[in-house]
Amino acid sequence: MLTVAEAWEAIERVVTPLPRQRVPLAESLGLVLAENAMADLDSPPFDKALMDGYAVRAADVATLPARLKITEEVLAGQVSPRGLGTGDAIRIMTGAPLPAGTDLVIPVEQTSVEGDSVLLQPPAVAVGKNVLRKGESTRRGDTVLTAGRVIRAVEVGCLAELGQHSVAVHRAPRIAVLATGDELVPVSERPGPGQIRNSNEAMLVAQLRQAGYQAFSLGIARDNQADLRQKIAQGLEYDVLVLSGGVSAGKVDLVPLALAEAGVEAIFHKVKIRPGAPLWFGRLDRSRPANQSALPSSLNSSRPNTWVFGLPGNPVSSLVCCELFVKAALRRLSGLEACRPEAFHAQLHKPHFNGGQRPTYHPARLSQGPSGPVVETVRWIGSADLSATAAANGMIAFETPNREYPAGEWVAVYRW
Ligand code: AMP
Ligand code: MG
Repeated sequence: MLTVAEAWEAIERVVTPLPRQRVPLAESLGLVLAENAMADLDSPPFDKALMDGYAVRAADVATLPARLKITEEVLAGQVSPRGLGTGDAIRIMTGAPLPAGTDLVIPVEQTSVEGDSVLLQPPAVAVGKNVLRKGESTRRGDTVLTAGRVIRAVEVGCLAELGQHSVAVHRAPRIAVLATGDELVPVSERPGPGQIRNSNEAMLVAQLRQAGYQAFSLGIARDNQADLRQKIAQGLEYDVLVLSGGVSAGKVDLVPLALAEAGVEAIFHKVKIRPGAPLWFGRLDRSRPANQSALPSSLNSSRPNTWVFGLPGNPVSSLVCCELFVKAALRRLSGLEACRPEAFHAQLHKPHFNGGQRPTYHPARLSQGPSGPVVETVRWIGSADLSATAAANGMIAFETPNREYPAGEWVAVYRW
Protein backbone atom coordinates (compact mmCIF):
# COMPACT_ATOMS: atom_id res chain seq x y z
CA MET A 1 0.00 0.00 0.00
CA LEU A 2 1.46 3.34 -1.04
CA THR A 3 1.06 6.53 0.91
CA VAL A 4 -0.67 9.41 -0.86
CA ALA A 5 2.71 11.07 -1.40
CA GLU A 6 4.17 7.86 -2.82
CA ALA A 7 1.22 7.55 -5.22
CA TRP A 8 1.88 11.10 -6.43
CA GLU A 9 5.57 10.26 -6.82
CA ALA A 10 4.68 7.22 -8.91
CA ILE A 11 2.46 9.34 -11.16
CA GLU A 12 5.21 11.94 -11.53
CA ARG A 13 7.75 9.25 -12.33
CA VAL A 14 5.84 7.53 -15.12
CA VAL A 15 3.51 10.06 -16.73
CA THR A 16 5.03 12.42 -19.29
CA PRO A 17 3.44 15.28 -21.24
CA LEU A 18 1.52 14.53 -24.42
CA PRO A 19 3.19 15.62 -27.66
CA ARG A 20 3.21 19.22 -28.83
CA GLN A 21 0.97 20.54 -31.53
CA ARG A 22 -0.02 23.93 -32.89
CA VAL A 23 -3.57 25.13 -32.35
CA PRO A 24 -5.30 28.36 -33.37
CA LEU A 25 -5.00 31.01 -30.64
CA ALA A 26 -8.77 30.90 -30.06
CA GLU A 27 -8.53 27.19 -29.17
CA SER A 28 -5.56 27.51 -26.83
CA LEU A 29 -7.45 28.49 -23.68
CA GLY A 30 -6.79 26.06 -20.82
CA LEU A 31 -3.95 24.24 -22.62
CA VAL A 32 -0.31 24.37 -21.56
CA LEU A 33 2.19 26.40 -23.56
CA ALA A 34 4.87 24.13 -25.07
CA GLU A 35 7.33 26.84 -26.20
CA ASN A 36 8.53 30.13 -24.76
CA ALA A 37 6.66 33.02 -26.34
CA MET A 38 9.03 35.79 -27.45
CA ALA A 39 8.30 39.39 -28.35
CA ASP A 40 8.62 39.95 -32.11
CA LEU A 41 8.36 43.74 -31.64
CA ASP A 42 9.07 46.25 -28.95
CA SER A 43 6.08 46.98 -26.76
CA PRO A 44 4.90 49.59 -27.10
CA PRO A 45 6.20 49.68 -30.68
CA PHE A 46 6.49 53.50 -30.55
CA ASP A 47 6.55 56.25 -27.91
CA LYS A 48 2.92 56.74 -27.01
CA ALA A 49 0.56 58.93 -25.01
CA LEU A 50 -1.12 57.38 -21.97
CA MET A 51 -3.65 60.18 -21.53
CA ASP A 52 -5.85 62.40 -23.62
CA GLY A 53 -4.26 65.85 -23.41
CA TYR A 54 -1.49 67.99 -24.86
CA ALA A 55 1.96 66.82 -25.88
CA VAL A 56 4.44 69.52 -24.85
CA ARG A 57 8.16 70.23 -24.36
CA ALA A 58 9.38 70.37 -20.76
CA ALA A 59 10.99 73.77 -21.24
CA ASP A 60 7.67 75.29 -22.33
CA VAL A 61 5.84 74.20 -19.18
CA ALA A 62 8.59 74.82 -16.59
CA THR A 63 6.16 77.22 -14.94
CA LEU A 64 2.38 76.84 -15.02
CA PRO A 65 0.00 78.30 -15.99
CA ALA A 66 1.40 78.58 -19.53
CA ARG A 67 -0.19 79.41 -22.85
CA LEU A 68 0.95 77.41 -25.93
CA LYS A 69 -0.12 77.40 -29.55
CA ILE A 70 -2.10 74.34 -30.71
CA THR A 71 -0.45 73.30 -33.95
CA GLU A 72 -1.98 69.92 -34.62
CA GLU A 73 -4.13 67.03 -33.42
CA VAL A 74 -2.99 63.38 -33.35
CA LEU A 75 -5.43 60.51 -32.85
CA ALA A 76 -4.54 56.91 -32.09
CA GLY A 77 -3.39 55.34 -35.35
CA GLN A 78 -2.08 58.61 -36.79
CA VAL A 79 1.49 59.90 -36.92
CA SER A 80 2.33 63.58 -36.46
CA PRO A 81 4.18 64.74 -39.59
CA ARG A 82 5.96 67.71 -38.05
CA GLY A 83 6.66 67.22 -34.37
CA LEU A 84 6.73 69.84 -31.63
CA GLY A 85 8.36 73.21 -32.20
CA THR A 86 9.25 75.57 -29.35
CA GLY A 87 6.07 77.03 -27.83
CA ASP A 88 3.86 74.41 -29.48
CA ALA A 89 1.26 72.07 -28.00
CA ILE A 90 -0.19 69.15 -29.93
CA ARG A 91 -3.59 67.81 -28.93
CA ILE A 92 -3.05 64.06 -28.47
CA MET A 93 -5.27 61.10 -27.65
CA THR A 94 -4.46 58.02 -25.57
CA GLY A 95 -2.52 55.50 -27.63
CA ALA A 96 -1.37 57.99 -30.27
CA PRO A 97 2.35 58.13 -31.11
CA LEU A 98 4.16 61.05 -29.47
CA PRO A 99 5.20 63.78 -31.88
CA ALA A 100 8.99 64.21 -32.03
CA GLY A 101 10.22 66.46 -29.22
CA THR A 102 7.49 65.51 -26.69
CA ASP A 103 8.69 65.32 -23.08
CA LEU A 104 5.34 64.87 -21.35
CA VAL A 105 1.60 64.99 -21.80
CA ILE A 106 -0.58 67.39 -19.80
CA PRO A 107 -4.01 65.83 -19.19
CA VAL A 108 -6.91 67.56 -20.90
CA GLU A 109 -8.56 68.10 -17.51
CA GLN A 110 -5.81 70.65 -16.70
CA THR A 111 -6.37 72.68 -19.84
CA SER A 112 -8.72 75.14 -21.49
CA VAL A 113 -8.75 76.19 -25.12
CA GLU A 114 -8.70 79.88 -26.07
CA GLY A 115 -8.90 80.35 -29.84
CA ASP A 116 -5.92 78.56 -31.35
CA SER A 117 -4.07 78.44 -28.01
CA VAL A 118 -4.32 76.23 -24.95
CA LEU A 119 -3.98 77.41 -21.36
CA LEU A 120 -2.23 74.78 -19.26
CA GLN A 121 -2.96 74.87 -15.53
CA PRO A 122 -0.95 73.57 -12.53
CA PRO A 123 -0.10 71.19 -10.93
CA ALA A 124 3.20 70.73 -12.72
CA VAL A 125 3.62 67.49 -14.67
CA ALA A 126 7.00 65.76 -14.48
CA VAL A 127 9.05 64.94 -17.56
CA GLY A 128 8.10 61.48 -18.83
CA LYS A 129 4.70 61.62 -17.19
CA ASN A 130 1.70 60.22 -19.12
CA VAL A 131 3.92 58.80 -21.82
CA LEU A 132 5.24 55.31 -22.42
CA ARG A 133 8.52 54.99 -24.35
CA LYS A 134 9.09 52.45 -27.12
CA GLY A 135 10.08 49.07 -25.66
CA GLU A 136 9.49 50.18 -22.07
CA SER A 137 7.14 47.27 -21.39
CA THR A 138 8.91 44.60 -23.48
CA ARG A 139 11.87 44.58 -25.85
CA ARG A 140 11.92 42.64 -29.08
CA GLY A 141 13.39 39.18 -28.36
CA ASP A 142 12.35 39.19 -24.69
CA THR A 143 10.68 36.04 -23.34
CA VAL A 144 7.18 37.14 -22.43
CA LEU A 145 5.69 33.76 -21.43
CA THR A 146 7.66 30.65 -20.49
CA ALA A 147 6.74 27.16 -21.66
CA GLY A 148 4.87 25.02 -19.15
CA ARG A 149 2.25 27.49 -18.02
CA VAL A 150 -1.49 27.24 -18.44
CA ILE A 151 -2.98 29.58 -21.00
CA ARG A 152 -5.60 31.74 -19.26
CA ALA A 153 -7.35 34.78 -20.69
CA VAL A 154 -4.40 37.02 -19.85
CA GLU A 155 -1.97 34.70 -21.67
CA VAL A 156 -4.32 34.70 -24.68
CA GLY A 157 -4.02 38.49 -24.60
CA CYS A 158 -0.22 38.38 -24.43
CA LEU A 159 -0.03 35.83 -27.26
CA ALA A 160 -2.33 37.98 -29.37
CA GLU A 161 -0.09 40.99 -28.73
CA LEU A 162 2.86 38.89 -29.88
CA GLY A 163 1.10 38.02 -33.11
CA GLN A 164 0.82 34.30 -32.26
CA HIS A 165 -2.30 33.40 -34.17
CA SER A 166 -1.30 29.78 -33.74
CA VAL A 167 0.25 28.56 -30.52
CA ALA A 168 2.50 25.62 -29.60
CA VAL A 169 0.76 23.66 -26.84
CA HIS A 170 0.70 20.16 -25.46
CA ARG A 171 -2.13 18.13 -26.90
CA ALA A 172 -5.11 17.98 -24.51
CA PRO A 173 -5.76 14.52 -23.07
CA ARG A 174 -9.00 12.76 -24.02
CA ILE A 175 -10.53 10.81 -21.21
CA ALA A 176 -13.09 7.98 -21.19
CA VAL A 177 -15.18 7.23 -18.10
CA LEU A 178 -16.58 3.74 -17.64
CA ALA A 179 -18.79 2.62 -14.76
CA THR A 180 -18.79 -1.04 -13.76
CA GLY A 181 -21.31 -3.03 -11.76
CA ASP A 182 -24.19 -5.48 -12.21
CA GLU A 183 -26.25 -3.43 -9.73
CA LEU A 184 -26.17 -0.21 -11.75
CA VAL A 185 -29.07 1.18 -13.74
CA PRO A 186 -28.96 4.25 -15.98
CA VAL A 187 -29.89 7.51 -14.26
CA SER A 188 -33.15 7.64 -16.24
CA GLU A 189 -34.38 4.38 -14.69
CA ARG A 190 -35.98 3.60 -11.35
CA PRO A 191 -33.78 1.04 -9.55
CA GLY A 192 -35.34 -2.38 -8.92
CA PRO A 193 -34.54 -4.55 -5.89
CA GLY A 194 -30.82 -4.47 -5.14
CA GLN A 195 -30.12 -1.90 -7.83
CA ILE A 196 -28.78 1.66 -7.63
CA ARG A 197 -28.40 4.46 -10.12
CA ASN A 198 -25.11 4.98 -11.89
CA SER A 199 -24.22 8.32 -10.32
CA ASN A 200 -20.45 8.01 -10.65
CA GLU A 201 -20.21 8.17 -14.38
CA ALA A 202 -22.04 11.49 -14.75
CA MET A 203 -20.19 12.88 -11.74
CA LEU A 204 -16.73 11.92 -12.95
CA VAL A 205 -17.34 13.26 -16.44
CA ALA A 206 -18.60 16.50 -14.88
CA GLN A 207 -15.69 16.68 -12.43
CA LEU A 208 -13.21 16.42 -15.29
CA ARG A 209 -15.08 18.79 -17.58
CA GLN A 210 -15.37 21.34 -14.80
CA ALA A 211 -11.58 21.30 -14.65
CA GLY A 212 -11.50 21.97 -18.40
CA TYR A 213 -10.75 18.44 -19.62
CA GLN A 214 -12.35 16.55 -22.51
CA ALA A 215 -14.17 13.65 -20.84
CA PHE A 216 -16.63 11.22 -22.42
CA SER A 217 -19.03 8.59 -21.03
CA LEU A 218 -18.73 4.98 -22.11
CA GLY A 219 -21.72 3.74 -20.10
CA ILE A 220 -21.89 0.73 -17.81
CA ALA A 221 -19.84 -2.47 -18.07
CA ARG A 222 -21.33 -5.47 -16.32
CA ASP A 223 -19.32 -7.55 -13.87
CA ASN A 224 -18.25 -10.24 -16.33
CA GLN A 225 -15.07 -10.63 -18.33
CA ALA A 226 -16.72 -10.49 -21.74
CA ASP A 227 -18.47 -7.16 -21.17
CA LEU A 228 -15.50 -5.67 -19.33
CA ARG A 229 -13.15 -6.76 -22.11
CA GLN A 230 -15.26 -5.15 -24.79
CA LYS A 231 -15.83 -1.82 -22.96
CA ILE A 232 -12.24 -1.60 -21.73
CA ALA A 233 -11.06 -2.02 -25.33
CA GLN A 234 -13.16 1.03 -26.25
CA GLY A 235 -11.73 2.96 -23.31
CA LEU A 236 -8.17 2.14 -24.31
CA GLU A 237 -8.63 4.23 -27.44
CA TYR A 238 -8.37 7.33 -25.23
CA ASP A 239 -5.37 8.84 -23.49
CA VAL A 240 -6.86 8.07 -20.10
CA LEU A 241 -9.46 5.51 -19.06
CA VAL A 242 -11.16 6.10 -15.71
CA LEU A 243 -13.18 3.16 -14.40
CA SER A 244 -15.32 3.19 -11.32
CA GLY A 245 -15.96 0.09 -9.25
CA GLY A 246 -14.64 -3.44 -9.36
CA VAL A 247 -11.19 -2.85 -7.86
CA SER A 248 -11.70 -4.02 -4.27
CA ALA A 249 -11.68 -7.52 -2.86
CA GLY A 250 -15.22 -8.60 -3.77
CA LYS A 251 -16.07 -11.72 -5.72
CA VAL A 252 -16.92 -9.73 -8.87
CA ASP A 253 -14.15 -7.13 -8.56
CA LEU A 254 -12.82 -8.23 -11.92
CA VAL A 255 -11.37 -4.97 -13.19
CA PRO A 256 -7.65 -5.59 -12.39
CA LEU A 257 -7.81 -8.98 -14.11
CA ALA A 258 -9.65 -7.62 -17.14
CA LEU A 259 -7.09 -4.82 -17.43
CA ALA A 260 -4.20 -7.27 -17.17
CA GLU A 261 -5.72 -9.32 -19.98
CA ALA A 262 -5.96 -6.18 -22.11
CA GLY A 263 -2.22 -5.67 -21.64
CA VAL A 264 -2.48 -2.91 -19.04
CA GLU A 265 0.31 -3.22 -16.46
CA ALA A 266 -0.36 -2.22 -12.86
CA ILE A 267 1.75 0.63 -11.52
CA PHE A 268 0.13 0.61 -8.12
CA HIS A 269 -2.91 -0.86 -6.43
CA LYS A 270 -4.12 0.40 -3.05
CA VAL A 271 -3.28 3.65 -1.33
CA LYS A 272 -3.29 4.47 2.40
CA ILE A 273 -6.25 6.79 2.27
CA ARG A 274 -9.84 6.97 3.39
CA PRO A 275 -12.00 7.02 1.36
CA GLY A 276 -10.44 5.39 -1.70
CA ALA A 277 -7.99 2.73 -0.51
CA PRO A 278 -8.56 0.22 -3.37
CA LEU A 279 -7.41 2.74 -6.03
CA TRP A 280 -5.73 1.07 -9.03
CA PHE A 281 -3.41 2.78 -11.50
CA GLY A 282 -1.70 1.37 -14.56
CA ARG A 283 -0.59 1.86 -18.13
CA LEU A 284 -1.05 0.27 -21.49
CA ASP A 285 2.34 0.74 -23.16
CA ARG A 286 1.92 0.15 -26.88
CA SER A 287 5.63 0.31 -27.54
CA ARG A 288 6.04 -3.03 -25.75
CA PRO A 289 5.96 -5.96 -28.16
CA ALA A 290 3.62 -7.95 -25.92
CA ASN A 291 1.00 -5.26 -26.40
CA GLN A 292 1.20 -4.89 -30.16
CA SER A 293 -1.63 -7.32 -30.75
CA ALA A 294 -3.84 -5.54 -28.19
CA LEU A 295 -3.49 -2.37 -30.21
CA PRO A 296 -6.88 -1.19 -31.45
CA SER A 297 -6.83 -0.57 -35.18
CA SER A 298 -7.51 3.15 -34.97
CA LEU A 299 -4.45 3.74 -32.84
CA ASN A 300 -1.09 4.86 -34.03
CA SER A 301 2.21 5.91 -32.53
CA SER A 302 0.84 9.33 -31.59
CA ARG A 303 -0.76 7.62 -28.60
CA PRO A 304 1.89 5.31 -27.20
CA ASN A 305 0.23 5.01 -23.80
CA THR A 306 -3.18 4.85 -22.25
CA TRP A 307 -3.21 5.57 -18.54
CA VAL A 308 -5.84 3.70 -16.57
CA PHE A 309 -7.35 4.50 -13.19
CA GLY A 310 -9.64 2.05 -11.42
CA LEU A 311 -11.48 4.11 -8.83
CA PRO A 312 -13.34 2.43 -5.97
CA GLY A 313 -17.07 2.47 -6.69
CA ASN A 314 -18.34 4.26 -3.63
CA PRO A 315 -19.21 7.70 -4.93
CA VAL A 316 -17.16 9.74 -2.47
CA SER A 317 -14.18 7.43 -2.99
CA SER A 318 -14.45 8.01 -6.72
CA LEU A 319 -14.75 11.76 -6.22
CA VAL A 320 -11.78 11.98 -3.86
CA CYS A 321 -9.51 9.74 -5.95
CA CYS A 322 -10.37 11.66 -9.10
CA GLU A 323 -9.60 14.91 -7.32
CA LEU A 324 -6.29 13.76 -5.86
CA PHE A 325 -4.86 11.34 -8.41
CA VAL A 326 -6.64 11.40 -11.78
CA LYS A 327 -6.30 15.16 -12.00
CA ALA A 328 -2.63 14.94 -11.00
CA ALA A 329 -1.97 12.61 -13.94
CA LEU A 330 -3.98 14.86 -16.24
CA ARG A 331 -1.98 17.93 -15.25
CA ARG A 332 1.17 16.01 -16.04
CA LEU A 333 -0.14 14.81 -19.42
CA SER A 334 -1.22 18.35 -20.21
CA GLY A 335 2.35 19.54 -19.80
CA LEU A 336 2.43 20.96 -16.27
CA GLU A 337 5.50 20.32 -14.18
CA ALA A 338 3.74 20.69 -10.82
CA CYS A 339 0.99 18.11 -10.85
CA ARG A 340 0.01 17.62 -7.20
CA PRO A 341 -3.15 19.35 -6.06
CA GLU A 342 -2.61 22.64 -4.32
CA ALA A 343 -3.20 22.59 -0.57
CA PHE A 344 -4.62 25.62 1.22
CA HIS A 345 -4.25 26.08 4.94
CA ALA A 346 -7.04 26.96 7.29
CA GLN A 347 -7.88 26.69 10.98
CA LEU A 348 -10.20 23.96 12.16
CA HIS A 349 -13.45 25.44 13.38
CA LYS A 350 -14.34 22.48 15.62
CA PRO A 351 -12.25 19.65 17.08
CA HIS A 352 -12.16 16.46 15.05
CA PHE A 353 -11.09 12.94 15.96
CA ASN A 354 -9.57 11.05 13.04
CA GLY A 355 -10.36 7.42 13.86
CA GLY A 356 -9.34 4.38 11.85
CA GLN A 357 -6.01 3.29 10.46
CA ARG A 358 -5.43 5.63 7.54
CA PRO A 359 -5.16 9.32 6.71
CA THR A 360 -8.66 10.64 6.03
CA TYR A 361 -9.67 13.13 3.36
CA HIS A 362 -12.81 14.44 4.98
CA PRO A 363 -15.38 16.53 3.10
CA ALA A 364 -15.31 20.03 4.55
CA ARG A 365 -16.40 23.63 4.11
CA LEU A 366 -13.75 26.27 3.78
CA SER A 367 -14.68 29.88 4.42
CA GLN A 368 -13.22 33.20 5.40
CA GLY A 369 -13.43 33.78 9.17
CA PRO A 370 -12.95 37.09 10.98
CA SER A 371 -9.23 36.40 11.42
CA GLY A 372 -8.40 34.22 8.41
CA PRO A 373 -9.52 31.07 6.61
CA VAL A 374 -11.47 28.52 8.66
CA VAL A 375 -12.60 25.05 7.74
CA GLU A 376 -15.31 22.87 9.15
CA THR A 377 -15.95 19.18 8.53
CA VAL A 378 -19.38 18.39 7.10
CA ARG A 379 -21.48 15.74 8.80
CA TRP A 380 -20.61 12.69 6.79
CA ILE A 381 -21.17 8.99 7.32
CA GLY A 382 -18.65 7.70 4.85
CA SER A 383 -17.74 6.96 1.29
CA ALA A 384 -21.29 6.25 0.10
CA ASP A 385 -22.60 9.55 1.50
CA LEU A 386 -22.58 11.72 -1.58
CA SER A 387 -25.41 14.04 -0.62
CA ALA A 388 -23.65 15.13 2.60
CA THR A 389 -20.54 15.70 0.50
CA ALA A 390 -22.47 18.18 -1.62
CA ALA A 391 -22.39 20.53 1.39
CA ALA A 392 -18.59 20.59 1.14
CA ASN A 393 -16.37 22.73 -1.05
CA GLY A 394 -13.23 20.72 -0.42
CA MET A 395 -11.65 18.19 1.89
CA ILE A 396 -9.37 18.33 4.89
CA ALA A 397 -6.35 16.02 4.92
CA PHE A 398 -6.27 14.50 8.41
CA GLU A 399 -2.92 12.79 7.97
CA THR A 400 -2.55 11.09 11.33
CA PRO A 401 -4.84 8.20 12.18
CA ASN A 402 -6.18 7.92 15.72
CA ARG A 403 -5.49 11.52 16.62
CA GLU A 404 -7.57 14.33 17.99
CA TYR A 405 -7.29 17.52 15.94
CA PRO A 406 -8.14 20.44 18.24
CA ALA A 407 -10.11 23.49 17.15
CA GLY A 408 -7.77 26.20 15.90
CA GLU A 409 -5.21 23.76 14.47
CA TRP A 410 -3.99 24.66 10.98
CA VAL A 411 -4.86 21.87 8.53
CA ALA A 412 -4.32 21.29 4.79
CA VAL A 413 -7.43 21.70 2.68
CA TYR A 414 -7.89 20.68 -0.95
CA ARG A 415 -10.60 22.74 -2.58
CA TRP A 416 -12.94 21.50 -5.26
P1 AMP B 1 -17.25 -1.55 -5.91
O1 AMP B 1 -16.07 -0.65 -5.86
O2 AMP B 1 -17.58 -2.02 -7.28
O3 AMP B 1 -17.10 -2.67 -4.94
O4 AMP B 1 -18.49 -0.70 -5.43
C1 AMP B 1 -18.50 -0.13 -4.13
C2 AMP B 1 -19.83 0.51 -3.85
O5 AMP B 1 -20.03 1.57 -4.76
C3 AMP B 1 -21.02 -0.41 -4.04
O6 AMP B 1 -21.96 -0.11 -3.05
C4 AMP B 1 -21.53 -0.05 -5.40
O7 AMP B 1 -22.87 -0.35 -5.56
C5 AMP B 1 -21.26 1.43 -5.45
N1 AMP B 1 -21.06 1.86 -6.82
C6 AMP B 1 -20.29 1.25 -7.73
N2 AMP B 1 -20.35 1.89 -8.92
C7 AMP B 1 -21.19 2.92 -8.75
C8 AMP B 1 -21.67 3.94 -9.61
N3 AMP B 1 -21.29 4.00 -10.89
N4 AMP B 1 -22.53 4.85 -9.12
C9 AMP B 1 -22.90 4.78 -7.83
N5 AMP B 1 -22.48 3.86 -6.97
C10 AMP B 1 -21.64 2.92 -7.42
MG1 MG C 1 -18.81 -3.37 -8.23
